Amino acid sequence: MINLELPKKLRASANQAHQVATEIFRPISRKYDLAEHEYPVELDTMAAMVEGLADSGTQKIGGAAGGREDDSESDAHATELLGNSNGGNMSALLNALETSWGDVGLMLSIPYQGLGNAAIAAVATDEQLKRFGKVWASMAITEPSFGSDSAAVTTTAVLDGDEWVLNGEKIFVTAGQRSTHIVVWASVDRSLGRAAIKSFVVPRDAPGLSVARLEHKLGIKASDTAVLLLQDCRIPKDNILGSPEVNVEKGFAGVMQTFDNTRPLVAAMAVGVARAALEELRAILTDAGVEISYDIPPNNQHAAAAEFLRMEADYEAAYLLSLRAAWMADNKKPNSLEASMSKAKAGRTGTDVSLKAVELAGAIGYSQRTLLEKWGRDSKILDIFEGTQQIQQLIVARRILGKTSAELK
Ligand SMILES: Cc1cc2nc3c(=O)[nH]c(=O)nc-3n(C[C@H](O)[C@H](O)[C@H](O)COP(=O)(O)OP(=O)(O)OC[C@H]3O[C@@H](n4cnc5c(N)ncnc54)[C@H](O)[C@@H]3O)c2cc1C
Repeated sequence: MINLELPKKLRASANQAHQVATEIFRPISRKYDLAEHEYPVELDTMAAMVEGLADSGTQKIGGAAGGREDDSESDAHATELLGNSNGGNMSALLNALETSWGDVGLMLSIPYQGLGNAAIAAVATDEQLKRFGKVWASMAITEPSFGSDSAAVTTTAVLDGDEWVLNGEKIFVTAGQRSTHIVVWASVDRSLGRAAIKSFVVPRDAPGLSVARLEHKLGIKASDTAVLLLQDCRIPKDNILGSPEVNVEKGFAGVMQTFDNTRPLVAAMAVGVARAALEELRAILTDAGVEISYDIPPNNQHAAAAEFLRMEADYEAAYLLSLRAAWMADNKKPNSLEASMSKAKAGRTGTDVSLKAVELAGAIGYSQRTLLEKWGRDSKILDIFEGTQQIQQLIVARRILGKTSAELK
């Protein structure tokens, strides 16, 4: 029998993240939903705590900062249960799940845990990891001229002596105003197509970098979403992530690799929101006298209980797919297919479950008496950013059918 119980070490860090979600996030969840763009000062206390824990060797809370943490100390139990080893990706994933259960907007605002951190962890050299290991990095790919088609980057990076000079506009950058650094995708030679797209670490105080404005959104209002301008923005030569060589054969596999780490994390955020909605719904149904039984076939139960069981099965599937993708990343196994599968399933499940929970809870679900309506709004972004539902399905199809991006669009 497969035992999917979490190993002791991971359980401890997930419990810690759950405690943060319960004691810090949930009490301020509505406050920052109503106060869009206001900085959640409570997160500073948390950041100090995280720093303390990181220094003492304990896993980080929050968790977008995936990475290469070596889990050589992982106990034998862990090895038996989940395979070879669990490292930074698995621990980041569980922490992202737990904190998103608390509030996904706040989770995306945790200092020093941006999506750019996961990108740095995925492709930085050891020297860069030393320099950028402790920064707060957001991720800037999207531009006014494209979203899904990340090969269409028009921002340019030109080498001038010991500096790269960046020019372009980046939109919808999560934590784009608050982060200390931004990982920017730019082309070093537009005539060479996608192979010339590289990622660059741009410090907040780099000359030529500015925030043009912040977006108003449907959900995740606690998270700032910025438009960034790069106007002759100068950064040191060695802030380019990975190799500066343009390898036309390899395409832009280098930068795309970051998605293999970040997509399972976003999947975990959706799983966290789905779990929150399921728990709330279970309580509401129980109060209403609806019994959810695991011994009776769903079709012989109350219609709401049958729906609940269907959603719970989707939630479990999404959870397990995201664990698999993170485990593969930790064990250096190519996981693009599995990362996209997890993101597609979890993104869909997050919105399906949270909106169905609103529906089944009726007026209570639609009102602000619970957080159900907020989770319904928050969850949608998790099916959009880091690649939409349709894009994940496209990637899965390409991988399974062995088609290139030119053959299957
Ligand atoms: C709140 C928020 C935060 C964000 N944070 C970040 C961030 O931190 N960094 C960043 O770089 N970007 C970020 N984004 C941008 C996000 O990644 C893009 O919005 C997303 O990739 C989709 O791009 P688009 O909006 O241009 O939609 P489009 O690419 O224009 O797509 C529109 C629709 O067409 C579908 N579609 C597109 N191509 C295909 C195809 N080939 N086959 C089938 N269907 C297709 C899409 O799935 C979608 O439904 C954020 C966006 C939001 C709203």
